[in-house]
Amino acid sequence: MTAHKNAIGELRSGTPATIIRPMPQGPGSSRKMMIGMPRRVQSPVRSPVSKVGGEPVGLPAARWPTCRQCGRAMDFLFQLDLREPQHLSRGYRMAYAFMCRGYTDELNGIQCQTWVSEKGANRIELVERPDAIVAACPPAARCWPEFELQFFEADRRPKARPIPLLRIRKAAMKRTRGDEPIVASISDKQYARANPPPEMVRLGGTPNWVQDDETPSCPRCGGPMRFVAQVGAMVEKQPFERAVESVSLPFGSEGEAYIFLCERECAPNSTYFMWQTT
Ligand SMILES: [Zn+2]
Ligand SMILES: [Zn+2]
Repeated sequence: MTAHKNAIGELRSGTPATIIRPMPQGPGSSRKMMIGMPRRVQSPVRSPVSKVGGEPVGLPAARWPTCRQCGRAMDFLFQLDLREPQHLSRGYRMAYAFMCRGYTDELNGIQCQTWVSEKGANRIELVERPDAIVAACPPAARCWPEFELQFFEADRRPKARPIPLLRIRKAAMKRTRGDEPIVASISDKQYARANPPPEMVRLGGTPNWVQDDETPSCPRCGGPMRFVAQVGAMVEKQPFERAVESVSLPFGSEGEAYIFLCERECAPNSTYFMWQTT
């Protein structure tokens, strides 16, 4: 695994992060869409920043939500900073996304419908002033492997740069054992360039719908909602059999989750969380 981590480190240092400009206007005024790429953390995140997995930082433990359908503690999925690098909310700094595991109670004909907000089987918790307190994952809930997010302007994200065929041929010629994969002879730098992390998070801009456009109205006031973020299930591929640490969030088969906030931010729970899959 060390080799892979080194490879990602080189990728990061070779790719300057976007300069964040101040945005004096209201939320959503910037049309620039930010793309978040995941990177496995070396040690647990202990500050209220955007991340996937781990335990929520900045959310009071008493606010850990339970599913309205089955009454179980929901699983924590990810948290998003609503001010940096994109100004997405006037009143709130952080959004925490939770979802029930989607239990089916066949005897009573109940299924926790996690893919829409109104069934109470998923939840966005908004926090105005997060502190650095970590809410421990309750025994009944699940927390995913933790990834931090590195944001790029959409048109400046690292692109895959294929490994030249000549290099692959040379690597193949170097092989001494029949069971050694060719990729073992390709440098970590080349491998990282050929396999940049997947586009996992989209902040602002417009949603990229997997199915039909299902932009909701505010469940509290009925008014228009602002698109805040899209988060992919992120199934990391493993080309050339090189091991890659990966995680897959439960949005169907490589589905996408969408988060909306009431344009007026009319209530602390004026949010909508849904997911679509193919
Ligand atoms: Zn449930
Ligand atoms: Zn509203």
